[in-house]
Parts: sequence; structure tokens; C-alpha cells
Amino acid sequence: MKFNESRYSEMIYKRCGKSGISLPIVSLGLWHNFGDVDDFENARKMIFRSFDLGITHFDLANNYGPSPGSAERNFGKILKEDLYSHRDELIISSKAGYLMWDGPYGEWGSRKHLISSLDQSLKRLRLEYVDIFYHHRPDPSTPLEETMITLDHIVRQGKALYVGLSNYDHIQTEKAANILNELGTPMLIHQPKYNMFNRWIEPDLLNLLEDKGIGCISFSPLAQGMLTDKYISGIPANSRAANEHGFLQPDEITENSVDKIKKLNQIALNRNQSLAQLALAWNLRNNAMTSVLIGARSVEQIEENVHCIDNLNLTIEELKMIDEIISED
Ligand code: NDP
Repeated sequence: MKFNESRYSEMIYKRCGKSGISLPIVSLGLWHNFGDVDDFENARKMIFRSFDLGITHFDLANNYGPSPGSAERNFGKILKEDLYSHRDELIISSKAGYLMWDGPYGEWGSRKHLISSLDQSLKRLRLEYVDIFYHHRPDPSTPLEETMITLDHIVRQGKALYVGLSNYDHIQTEKAANILNELGTPMLIHQPKYNMFNRWIEPDLLNLLEDKGIGCISFSPLAQGMLTDKYISGIPANSRAANEHGFLQPDEITENSVDKIKKLNQIALNRNQSLAQLALAWNLRNNAMTSVLIGARSVEQIEENVHCIDNLNLTIEELKMIDEIISED
């Protein structure tokens, strides 16, 4: 398989916190559209095109599918068949913490769950190690020390190069990062949900990450597709909201949100951008943000989204207009 030789000059790479790793400012997540209910050839095309565009970071989790685990299995197959010679050019992440198998060890943050889950993921991915291993969500019942000691252990075993946390708030993140620092495995990155409709990480978590030199990669930066022009005139058949396996529920596409989407779309058009591109540029405006973690159903969506890099600058007036639109009742 031959890839675009100028791929690394066409993408922007940004240092992940104060680590040695740089990430593409647009990364691809395999939560939807890569499972065994999906078209495998389309999945393969999306991975190839992403890599061709300079996307070096692919994000997975134990449970992505459906069926759970099938996104890792499919990615492992694509990697083995066509991308393995490029393994050292890739940052592949996985996660554990959400429900994956029956019984008391199939989810959350115990040593038992994390180690067993990563072993399963490595088999599905056909890899000896992942580049980043995340604890997917905070566990209110397991001592934080147990979870962090396990992450440190996994790195020392060579099964992950770096560790990250996802969905932890700023207080939990600070405690966890301090423990990881003491153990000698600094936290590389945080993965929170962040988009124009959901700004919960402002300002505390973002400030903490910047202060501590931890990177940040936002998931659902397009609000699962709502921050594109696709829902402006109803719910199209080929959309996540209409898909029986889609996580976005049709009742989330309210009149109020469509009204905001239309106004945001107009700002994007005035900038000669699509709304998706504006939403990604907006997400990346913050210094603490390393990368936006997009999802996609097609090569065309990936191509469109990567072109956000053509215009990342937002004026103070544009930012103000966006704030006003978002805060309208
Ligand atoms: P997005 O907000 O980017 O939504 C992606 C969806 O939006 C696509 O599947 C597609 O849906 C639609 N879309 C994308 N680009 C366009 C476009 N240009 N025009 C029109 N529609 C478009 O991200 P996701 O919600 O998919 O999340 C991204 C990744 O984040 C996941 O794959 C996963 O890796 C990670 N994640 C992590 C979580 C965590 O707890 N840590 C939780 C959730 C996600 P469609 O066309 O089908 O409508």
C-alpha cells in the first residue's frame, strides 16, 4: 500500500502538553462506523484516507462496535494487512472502564478489570502494545491509587507507552495526575467531551491541564454531527440520529438547537468554511487543546473536517457572536 508522501507537511502536529509526543490536530475515533454491523471496506478506506491526510492518531476502546470489541478487531485486521509497515508512525489508543463483560470485573477501575481488558484489546488489535491506554471514566468505588498504580504497572510491563484519563473532572484529574507523577508515569493526556454545546471543561479542567503540562483531546467536537449542516432541514436517513446503532437520539435535535445550528452555519459560510470546519477551529482555539477527536461515516467527511486547518483563526467578534448564539434560550 502506497501513501501520500507529503502527508506530514499537509497536517499540523501539536505537542501534547509537555510530553515528547506530538499529535495531529485532527485525530480519528472509531466509536461508530467501524464495528461488525458496518461496511468493512468503508472502514478500511476511512483509515487509509486519514493516514494519507497526515492523521497519525487513531482512538479506540475495548467496547467500540457494535458488537463490543469489533472496532478493535477490524482495526487490527486493517493494520495487519496494510498498515503494519507504518506501525511506528501511528499513535493507537484504547481504553477500559465501561461495561465490557459480565460479572464484577467487566467494568470500572480495578486492577483486575484494567489488566484483563487491555490484554483482550491487544489480542483484538494484534498488537504488543498500545501507544496510549486510558482509564475511560472515574470509578467512585475503587481507590484512585489502585487505578493509577495499575496504569503505571501497565506502562512498566510495556503494554502501553503512555497513559491518559477520560471523563475525570478537574478535582479527580489533579489527584490522579499527582499520584501518577509520584509513581514516575506522568499523565500524557485527558480525553473529555467538548464542543460548542458542551463546555463543561471551561475553565477549570483546561486550566489544570495547561498548568500541569498535560495534553487534551476533545471527543465529540461536532456534538455527534449536530455541529454540521446535516440536521438543518430534518433528520436525514444517513445520519447518526437516524441509525439504530447511533448514540445520538432524534429528540436531541430540538427546534432550539436547529435554530442555533442555522445561525452558526451562517457564521461559517461568511468565513468560507463549513459548520463542521468552524466547530473544529473553535474547539482548537484554546491553547490547552492538543487535538480534536472526530468521528466519521465517510472519506468525504474526513476530508472536509481536516480542511478546518485552512482557517483556524477566529476573530474576537466571531467568538462573541458564537457565545451569544449558544447562550440563547
Ligand atoms: P463527532 O462529534 O466528530 O461526531 C462524528 C459524527 O458526526 C460522524 O460519525 C458523522 O455522523 C458526523 N459528521 C462528521 N463529520 C461530518 C461532516 N463533515 N458533515 C456532516 N456530518 C459529519 O465525534 P464522535 O461523537 O464520533 O466522537 C469521536 C470520537 O471520540 C469517537 O470515535 C471516540 O474515539 C471518542 N469518544 C470518546 C468518548 C469517551 O468517553 N472517552 C465518548 C465518545 C466518543 P453521521 O454522518 O453518521 O451523522
